[in-house]
Amino acid sequence: MKVVFLDRDGVINEFPGNGKYVTKLKEFHFIPGSLDALRILTNEGYSIFVVSNQAGVAKGLYSKEKLEHITRNMLRDVEAVGGKITEVYYCTHFSHAGCECRKPKIGAIQKALESSNKTLQSAQKAFLVGDTESDILTGHNAGCTTIFVLSGREDLRHMRGWKIKPDYVARDLLEATDIINERNLLRSKRRKRRALTVKSIRRRMAKEKAG
Ligand SMILES: [Mg+2]
Ligand SMILES: [Zn+2]
Repeated sequence: MKVVFLDRDGVINEFPGNGKYVTKLKEFHFIPGSLDALRILTNEGYSIFVVSNQAGVAKGLYSKEKLEHITRNMLRDVEAVGGKITEVYYCTHFSHAGCECRKPKIGAIQKALESSNKTLQSAQKAFLVGDTESDILTGHNAGCTTIFVLSGREDLRHMRGWKIKPDYVARDLLEATDIINERNLLRSKRRKRRALTVKSIRRRMAKEKAG
């Protein structure tokens, strides 16, 4: 199964600013190209999971219902362009709550994989796209291929100080989608080559047997 995990703010929609949250629909703006990216990933057969920390709910800045309203609209807009987000996982707890669903912990990723009858092992074939060190750490902790996008909160200057570096850096989700597709093409080529080799060995063995 092809799986992509996406952070939300700064990846799909515009980063609301340091210490700020998307508290209402009016503050949710798709980053240019992100809808295209979601459509392309969907067409390429990827299951798309959004994994996002939304501690603003715990802080009382917006309600769970508001968040759900924003999510419903996001999903509808994505579907309108032919894309599909399989599921959205939010952590709505305080950063100090110690829950398993807050990134960089991988509770949400585990949940997402379980929901598709996959073990954590399959995260190694999945991609994670995020705009912060915490996102990249999450992907790293789960064993995903990580892509850091520069469309959100952090930039290359921040990245210099990170202990864990991303596997790739992309301008935005659309560019990240190119990387994902290229990587996947390479993988399937390698698979094909391997399959060919196995086939040719069998053929040679059969020939030897016959001869
Ligand atoms: Mg973000
Ligand atoms: Zn949580």
